[in-house]
Amino acid sequence: MKFGTKAIHAGQDPDESTGAVMTPIYQTSTYVQKKPGEHKGYEYSRTANPTRTALEKNIASLENGSYGLCFASGLAAIDAIIKLLKPGDEVISTNDLYGGSYRIFSQVFLNYGIKFHFVALDNIENVHKFLNKNTKMIWAETPTNPMLNIIDLKTLSKIAKENQLLLVVDNTFATPFLQRPLELGADIIMHSLTKYMAGHSDVIMGAVVCKDEEIAEKLAFIQNSCGAVPGPMDCFLVLRGIKTLHLRMQRHCENAQAVVKFLSQHNKVDKVYWPGLESHTNHDIASEQMDGYGGMVSFNLKGNRIDDAFKIVSSTKYFTLAESLGGVESLCGHPATMTHAAIPKKEREITGVVDSLIRLSIGIEDAEDLIIDLEQAMK
Ligand code: PLP
Repeated sequence: MKFGTKAIHAGQDPDESTGAVMTPIYQTSTYVQKKPGEHKGYEYSRTANPTRTALEKNIASLENGSYGLCFASGLAAIDAIIKLLKPGDEVISTNDLYGGSYRIFSQVFLNYGIKFHFVALDNIENVHKFLNKNTKMIWAETPTNPMLNIIDLKTLSKIAKENQLLLVVDNTFATPFLQRPLELGADIIMHSLTKYMAGHSDVIMGAVVCKDEEIAEKLAFIQNSCGAVPGPMDCFLVLRGIKTLHLRMQRHCENAQAVVKFLSQHNKVDKVYWPGLESHTNHDIASEQMDGYGGMVSFNLKGNRIDDAFKIVSSTKYFTLAESLGGVESLCGHPATMTHAAIPKKEREITGVVDSLIRLSIGIEDAEDLIIDLEQAMK
């Protein structure tokens, strides 16, 4: 089955009891048992729910994985993955990552004895500087949020295998339509389904996908024991969103290319960050490991004044100033004070999150309108 067919059909056979073509929203917390322990595979909806099962199978299939697990948010999925570790364990993480991931690593899990090293993983050599006997996991986000750096997953997975480390990839920005990290050697994939996968800015959810049965069993145990599961209505919405993922992603990429062309020629713009640009540091790796360059674009302004960035993000009409990304509508944001405010100024500036940096989530409107909007805001 090819991607578009999987997006629409995987995990979603017509309902056996009624023939309903769309997966029903099984809005139930519990299930009848004929006698204790004798049931149809479902006992209690924290453990499993048929609408969630359909979504979990669908996502696993899109990532070419064997097991999928859904969580109440992307951060709940991250939380479950880090709970595979024990006090004393160490993680090497990219230093250019979603601010909320940085926060849970550095402010929550640090208190449980897990140590994180934040390093620039677009230069793989940096991994070797922090490897020691306690290292158990590498955390990669590619393209990174918000600098759109690219991490070479094939090389990184080689290092992970040589050192018996788990390689986890946050695939939120790319989605499986553009990048399938398990095929490149990753062990675990994490998603904020809130973004492109659901695609309509109407739900918060996360997912984890893997191939290894033992890892899947441990994660399912954590999912059930800690209980951060999504409700069936939300699972239905994400299933519905995924049915158009392939179409939406194509348009996100095309529109991003048009906006990048406009921004690159603008006299107030200092630098544009998008992996599709030939001038991007890791453009070649992006071309190799991705099937498109995605709909996220960041840029900063000449003079690097925060007021200029504020004026632009407050003057757009179609780009709505809001947190989040990946919906059909275009959004703009100011990472330094919004999504990445949790990262200390000194640290965020090292990664390029300067005061004038603006992040755009390019939607699937008409590219011409988006450019007209940016043009008037830049004036
Ligand atoms: N990973 C990335 C790359 C994100 O952008 C986000 C949210 O913005 C998350 C994880 C967290 O996901 P959620 O907001 O669904 O908890």
